[in-house]
Amino acid sequence: MMPLYRMNSLASLIEELRILFSKVRLTEFEIQVLEQKFPYYARLSEKHKKEFREKLQVILTTKSFIGRSEIRVVTPEMKILIGATIVMVTFGWHDLRLRHFDKILIYPDTYYSTISKNYHRGEVNPRHGIIAMSWNCFLNGMENEKDGVNLGIHEVAHALKLENQIYYNDECEFFNPEVYDAFQEIASVEIRKIKSGELTVFRINAGIDDDEFFAVALETFFEKPHEFFEYNPVLYGTLVRLMRQDPRVWVKN
Ligand SMILES: [Zn+2]
Repeated sequence: MMPLYRMNSLASLIEELRILFSKVRLTEFEIQVLEQKFPYYARLSEKHKKEFREKLQVILTTKSFIGRSEIRVVTPEMKILIGATIVMVTFGWHDLRLRHFDKILIYPDTYYSTISKNYHRGEVNPRHGIIAMSWNCFLNGMENEKDGVNLGIHEVAHALKLENQIYYNDECEFFNPEVYDAFQEIASVEIRKIKSGELTVFRINAGIDDDEFFAVALETFFEKPHEFFEYNPVLYGTLVRLMRQDPRVWVKN
């Protein structure tokens, strides 16, 4: 058997060649979808829009989008909006694309997981490199862009945190360790507050554990940056440094 690191370098070589020679190109229609349905993109400068489209093309080239249950065909809109969510969350890094998570499963609605024996809106499976989402819940999350509830951001946030600790590929430890420690320290105070029933800017699920806090904090960061900043400027500022972007720039107050 080939050692894992060599298999991996071969796989990444093939992937790089694919990006170079058979990169997916966005159609006019797909760019329209971005303009009309993805406010983050619509508010960027022309220069950043170009960068965003470039990153999205790489995402679409390197990930498989797979329909489950009644979703027989994955539509361009599904790929564009889910792909754009990955680009948005990772936009602070030049070429971070969550390599380990190369399969995106799309269910029509909440679905039953045989592993957890529970109904899910979405989940991340690091063992199989999967991000799974219910399309219905994804759209609900996008519909109100200011309520701090967004399934797409939530699941991509879980994948981001895991990718930072997955060591076989060259995408790991992209979080600045000091900033991450600072974030964790303040986060634990917030988790305690939520657990004791105190009202915070975060929804209650953030109190479950560190992973859920991170995912909900990113939903709040992208959808309610001004409220988040007012609520806890130190935590917000730490997240700006960790994520290398500040959503207050383009989300209107
Ligand atoms: Zn979660």
